[in-house]
Amino acid sequence: MVEFDLIARIRARACLRDDVFLGIGDDAALLQVPPSRALVVTMDTLNAGVHFPVEASAADIGWKALAVNLSDLAAMGAEPAWCTLSLSVPNADADWLDGFLDGFLALAQAHGVALVGGDTTRGPLSIAVTAHGLVEPARALRRDGARAGDDIWVTGTLGDAAAALEHWQRGVPCIAALRTRLDRPTPQVKAGQALAGLAHAAIDLSDGLAADLAHLCRVSKLAAEISLPLLPTSSELNALQAAPHTRWCWQVSGGDDYELCFTAPPTCRDALQARLENTGTPITHIGRMIESAVHEVHLLTESVARWHPPRAGFVHFQGQDSS
Ligand code: ADP
Ligand code: MG
Repeated sequence: MVEFDLIARIRARACLRDDVFLGIGDDAALLQVPPSRALVVTMDTLNAGVHFPVEASAADIGWKALAVNLSDLAAMGAEPAWCTLSLSVPNADADWLDGFLDGFLALAQAHGVALVGGDTTRGPLSIAVTAHGLVEPARALRRDGARAGDDIWVTGTLGDAAAALEHWQRGVPCIAALRTRLDRPTPQVKAGQALAGLAHAAIDLSDGLAADLAHLCRVSKLAAEISLPLLPTSSELNALQAAPHTRWCWQVSGGDDYELCFTAPPTCRDALQARLENTGTPITHIGRMIESAVHEVHLLTESVARWHPPRAGFVHFQGQDSS
């Protein structure tokens, strides 16, 4: 097997769409963008040992590589359309590639996304994916649109993936459902599209609620107040019966939730609930945006005391010499 055998294997299984004039096989892809919509482009890289454990299954790696990108499109309110895949692999292992494609293409197919090109090289295991989506520009969900008085909401539940990661790091077994949230995150694509044109601002939660919401606060020039007791918790996470502070750490500082956090005016509550119900995505009201000179996230306990998590969230290069 050489580079071209691997590409042929990928091409044979890639799904197609009518708006792909030319997919895998030429120097570049030719795609039809509808006239009234903007092209939404995002890219995320997964490195072995950083974004997934080295022993992760090929199928889980494939799934997650696309999922994290579709999550970014969801956070923009976009409809996913196409993707490209840059694959750096230590050797041309057909079995590994087939497993990888099982995960990657299962998710692609579920969202009608066509794999239209990429690059295949030899090197340490690393996967970079670009995802392309479509949205009417005026309806796109941005980070900088939040307004004072907006409600803050999240989709789904928080903390499952972080709890699974901590168990794995400590060598302790954990409930399969929690581990699945870490290995096979579900991008909230339908929810993102339902929120387009309704929510004021949105961000997807990859590095932890506190860290990600802080980005939204900075660019919207506001602060956020989050009520910790309101954070949505899965029954599996509840079943661990962890102390509240331990659970909050997973829910606000843990990463890999891939839920959406968004803001919307209180007048939209009924409309939001109705639209999201249609997509089958539960949403939870967890706080509000407030005016403040300091654009930060306030985490409040039951007694409305401010709680400071021991760890803010995941940041690459943290603790490394910057020289
Ligand atoms: P070039 O040398 O012109 O960049 P390549 O030989 O790298 O072309 O790729 C040939 C074709 O295969 C291109 O259409 C490219 O997009 C596609 N391709 C290469 N690697 C991948 C991959 N990992 N996934 C999907 N398509 C790929
Ligand atoms: Mg070329």
